[in-house]
Formats: sequence, C-alpha cells, structure tokens
Amino acid sequence: MTPFEFESVSARVLFGAGVLARLPKEASRLGSRHFILSTPGQRELAVRAAALLGEKAACIHAEAVSHVPADIADAAVVAAKGQQVDAIVAIGGGSAIGLAKIVALRLNLPILAVATTYAGSEMTPVWGLTTDGVKRTGRDPLVQPKTVLYDPELTYRLPPAISVVSGINAIAHCVEALYSETANPLTTLMAEEGIRALSVSLPPIVERPDDIEARAGALYGAWMAGSVLGSVGMALHHKLCHTLGGAFNLPHAETHAIVLPHVAAYNRGAAPEAMRRIARALGVADAPTGLFELVGSVGAKRALRDIGMPESGIERTVDLTLANPYYNPAPLARPHLLRLVRNAYEGRPPE
Ligand code: NAD
Repeated sequence: MTPFEFESVSARVLFGAGVLARLPKEASRLGSRHFILSTPGQRELAVRAAALLGEKAACIHAEAVSHVPADIADAAVVAAKGQQVDAIVAIGGGSAIGLAKIVALRLNLPILAVATTYAGSEMTPVWGLTTDGVKRTGRDPLVQPKTVLYDPELTYRLPPAISVVSGINAIAHCVEALYSETANPLTTLMAEEGIRALSVSLPPIVERPDDIEARAGALYGAWMAGSVLGSVGMALHHKLCHTLGGAFNLPHAETHAIVLPHVAAYNRGAAPEAMRRIARALGVADAPTGLFELVGSVGAKRALRDIGMPESGIERTVDLTLANPYYNPAPLARPHLLRLVRNAYEGRPPE
C-alpha cells in the first residue's frame, strides 16, 4: 500500500429530509445571536430560517453573490459587527457560504451552513475573495463550518439546469481527488461513491425536480465531493476552471461541466487506477467518454464558446495555466494543453 497522510474535515453533519427543523437547536450550540446570510434569490428560505430561530435571529443579510467581491464582503462584515452577532447561519450554495467564510475570518465567528447546492464549500476550510477582478483563495480552519445541515427538501427548487452543472462540479472534485497528489484510501472510497451517487441522481432530477430519492442521492454525493475537496489537493481541472473563470468571467459550475471530460482524457494514461474507478462509478468502459456523455445526457452545455469564452482566450488560458506550476498526474505540455482547451472551446468529444 502507498504511504499516506490523512486529516479529516471536522464538522458536525446532519442529513435528511426535514432536517431544517433542527436548525434552532443546532444553531444554539454555536451562539445566541445569529447573522443569517443568503443570496437575494434565497431570501425566502433565509426568512424561513429566521422564523425558526425566533428572537435569536439578529438579522437577514441576503446580499451574497458569486466569487465574494470585496465590497460585498466589507458590507457584510459591517452589518454583522453592527448587530453584535456571535454566530453565522449561511443558507445556500457556494456564494452564501463563501461570504460567510470571509465574515467568519474577519470577526472570528463560527458558521452553521445549510447547503442547498452541490458545490461543496460547506465541507472545506477554503475561503475566496475577489478584489479588482482577481480572486484570492486561502485555507483557514476558522472558516470551516462547524455544523452542516443537508436537507434534500430544500433543493427541490434548485432549477434542473443549475442542479446538473452544480452536480458535475461536485463530480469534478471527486475525479481530481482520485488522482490527487495527497489522495488516501478514505478519500478514494468517498470520491468513487460520490461519482456513483451523483451520476445516477442527476438524470432523474432533470425529469422530476422534486424526486426526493434523486435529490437525496445528489446531496449525499455532494457531501462526499465536498469532503474530498476539503481533504486533498486538486489538480489541472480546478486550476484551468479557476483560470477561465477569472480571465473571462465564465459561470463557475458550467465551466467545470464543460472542461471535466477533457481533463480526464488528458490524465487518462497517467492515472489508470483513477480512470478505472471513475468508469466503474459511471458504469461505462472509458471514463472521459462517460463523463462527456453524462454532461450531454443531462442537457448541460458542452462548449466554452457557448458560455461566453472568446476564441482568442485559448492561448491566454494556457499561458496563465503554465505560468503557475502545480501538481498534475500527466505533465503539463503546451501543445497538449492548447488542444485540450480548443476541444473544450468547440465542444468536441474528449481525445
Ligand atoms: P451559488 O451559491 O451562486 O448558487 C447558484 C444560484 O442558485 C444562486 O442564484 C442561488 O441563489 C440559487 N440557489 C441556491 N440554492 C438554491 C435552491 N435550493 N433553490 C433555488 N435556488 C437556489 O452557486 P454554487 O455553484 O453553489 O457556488 C459557486 C461559488 O462557490 C463559486 O464562487 C465558487 O468559487 C465557490 N465554491 C467555493 C468552494 C470552497 O471550498 N471555498 C467550493 C465550491 C465552490
């Protein structure tokens, strides 16, 4: 057996339909005056949470947006300070939880996260902050939510189109965890199980967005995916998506869904055991082809040009990626990377 190091993400996790009802008791374990955070679109759910918390709900701050812009973060910190809160309740996906992390970091507050997408931020100690268009990220155990509630009933209204790309974003965490430089036996088991659970759950969600079994399966897979994302290092796929998102302001989850099959193909020869596990989880013969077919079968876009990337951006993406070396199982070579990004740009099958 390959030697390994393992550090678990420390969080209390409650999973199940109706688990939101346990919010008051769980929140009171962390504090007595709660700052409730959401995106504007999720305000209704934030109001529901505030009603459950009663007089312990200090205020609702429904201002979170993607990638945590610095001015939005500053305003949230001022609002939380003004209310003299002692805990944060973040309800939503990576945007709400991402904003909560910056408030937690600056004011030293614990977070309870109610996760309503499949992005996985609730299970990581990673924060992100965007200043003048540049996103910085960092790790700090302080921003890891202490308690996470996963209630599949809250995901019924996550539109199918967002659900599927969010789910494939989660699969991407699992794929890269399988060939991570810091992979270990436990994250490997979780990653394979995450791919299996998400890939069987996403197609029925497209047909029936309120299918409780499918919603529970996808959220369970997202928990696995978030856990491995929080525990082991990622590789080329996450680097490329980060670069594409930052350089061309492309939508986060859609970018992941388009790029993933191509990065899997890039690493096919260098990570055979990971490919075997991905293929087994998907029930297919070839992992990159299976991922490409999954993306198409759930109706997600397949081409970066269809989500706003300019053709002139292909070279720039590769230059930016090569400018900052990091681990990947297959060595990074400019001509191969250009082909990868061109294929993703045009929506061709992975090579
Ligand atoms: P998101 O949080 O922006 O949510 C997408 C949209 O769906 C929003 O408009 C939101 O209001 C809406 N929504 C969320 N839950 C809903 C529900 N149940 N019903 C109806 N609508 C709902 O997107 P996301 O994909 O969850 O997160 C993306 C962000 O998270 C990015 O900024 C990304 O960088 C970050 N992220 C960070 C980490 C980390 O570890 N720090 C991990 C993954 C993602």
